Amino acid sequence: MRRTQAFIPTTKEAPNDATLPSHIFLARAGFIAQVASGLYNYMPLAKRVIKKIENIINEEMAAIGAQEVELSFVTPSELWAESGRIEKFGKELLRFKDRKENLFVLGPTHEEMMVDLVRNRVTSYKNLPLHLYQIKTKFRDEARPRFGLMRGREFIMKDGYSFHATKEDLDREFDAVEAAYKKILTRLGLDFRIVEADSGAIGGSGSKELMVLADSGEDTIAVCSKCEYGANIEAAQRSARKTIPEAPEAEFNKFLTPNVKTIDELAEFFKIDPYYTIKAVAKRVIWEDSSEIVVFYLRGCDTLEEVKAINATEALDIVDASEEELKEIGLVPGFIGPLDQDKAKHVIDSDLKDAKSMICGANEQDYHFIGVDLGVISEAAYFADIAQVNEGDICPHCDGELSFTKGIEVGHIFKLGTTYSSALKAEFLDENGKAQPFIMGTYGMGVSRLVAAIIEQHHDENGCIWTKQSAPYMVNVMVSNIKDEAQMALGEELYANLKNIGVEVMLDDRKDRFGFKMKDAELIGFPYTIIIGKELANGNVQIFDRASKEKTTVASDAIFEKIMELIK
Ligand code: ATP
Ligand code: MG
Repeated sequence: MRRTQAFIPTTKEAPNDATLPSHIFLARAGFIAQVASGLYNYMPLAKRVIKKIENIINEEMAAIGAQEVELSFVTPSELWAESGRIEKFGKELLRFKDRKENLFVLGPTHEEMMVDLVRNRVTSYKNLPLHLYQIKTKFRDEARPRFGLMRGREFIMKDGYSFHATKEDLDREFDAVEAAYKKILTRLGLDFRIVEADSGAIGGSGSKELMVLADSGEDTIAVCSKCEYGANIEAAQRSARKTIPEAPEAEFNKFLTPNVKTIDELAEFFKIDPYYTIKAVAKRVIWEDSSEIVVFYLRGCDTLEEVKAINATEALDIVDASEEELKEIGLVPGFIGPLDQDKAKHVIDSDLKDAKSMICGANEQDYHFIGVDLGVISEAAYFADIAQVNEGDICPHCDGELSFTKGIEVGHIFKLGTTYSSALKAEFLDENGKAQPFIMGTYGMGVSRLVAAIIEQHHDENGCIWTKQSAPYMVNVMVSNIKDEAQMALGEELYANLKNIGVEVMLDDRKDRFGFKMKDAELIGFPYTIIIGKELANGNVQIFDRASKEKTTVASDAIFEKIMELIK
């Protein structure tokens, strides 16, 4: 492509709302243009990067025998009613009616559609397993679209769905997809980690996320210092503490604690470790058709993990409750403690099971209970893992310590089981002629989010640094002064020769100043720029390596071989 003919509207100005480097640089370098909140136009450079990513995905999917399909973006709402997700998805689903008043939904994901495609078409175990996938626009009316391509409302996802006759076969496919996803991210030149993810109320270990490591990531992941363990903080587990602080000794009693409301104040008042205090967090828990205040109890040194709390209560959502709402049912803010179960449900963190010598709110102004022994209620009470792991906690698989790092979720693979096939009555006949619901897996990868993730991990203060496998063009041939005939001739020759053997090359043939063109090249992030300038008079040109920022002088008659060697 000749730069004089290319549609690459680079600018100095970043979008007003842009905070992340990927958002700023992709907009400034003319990859994307915002249309409305969470909606973007992809310009030629972005389209090229997307195609690269898609090609790699297609190759790795073919290698594990997955077949590409493409399902309708507009999906009938009846399918969403059949699965029950029309309520669960809530406002993220964009709904509309056609001229005949039929209700439709813009597909935010395609489990229902894929099950509908396969049901009654695949009817025997003999035709299983089956793995279908597509690369397709999705629409989710996200509450807070932001960060450019990272969290759009319209975005591109690769979504795959597999159908199996047995759980073992699903396990095999899940592992194969995990390996394929690993290859895709490795080929793209990304530093990533596969972590255990929240699998909702179903639980189990059948959910993994692929996290591109970047400080700007929205997800916190806990990783072990010794073994391979990594988990999204929403799902991270830990082993019991190795060293336990010395326990305070006290008989069970009610104790006057005037104005002692926070955990810190409480620990200070009794001169004890917060480990022996109980934190009560009262929240409004929302189910499909009701909502209630639930009190979650944890050790004072821990914090409530809301995703775990949602799973423990099988809720749709959990929101803060006002002091008035708490007082209404008889809770005393600052001193919250046990209440009649018919006024508020209690969920106690598993780490408190059989805990002794604890201090807990007495649910009475200015009073706490001391010497609380949870052993006496351990039979009757409801315990669940609701605490967030802390840095320094012990790994659940070895004796290493957990630490936190930030990640961008670019993929999510999930063992669905029969959730959707049962709901949509999608069945096959097994070896004994008995009808069984398909056992399914679902595998998502954020294609447009990957474009942003690559830049989050690969940029500097001057702009994008594309990895070789993702770059829109590998080589930028820059003619410093287009009026210089020798410079222009070499530029044309290199451009033609590189193009001829299939190298993706841009010829910067604009008449702008050298400094301007150089800044532009850095902003766009071509892996290599060949600079043809004044030095050509002495038989030399330069290669600028975008990643290392190094300029190397090369004899002009050796430049072709040199660049071919670099891009290998
Ligand atoms: P998140 O937790 O970031 O909202 P999700 O759990 O809703 O993501 P999935 O339903 O697992 O996402 O979708 C599969 C993949 O699609 C995600 O791993 C992510 O890479 C991508 N994705 C999801 N939502 C968006 C979005 N709003 N914009 C861009 N990509 C997205
Ligand atoms: Mg997810």
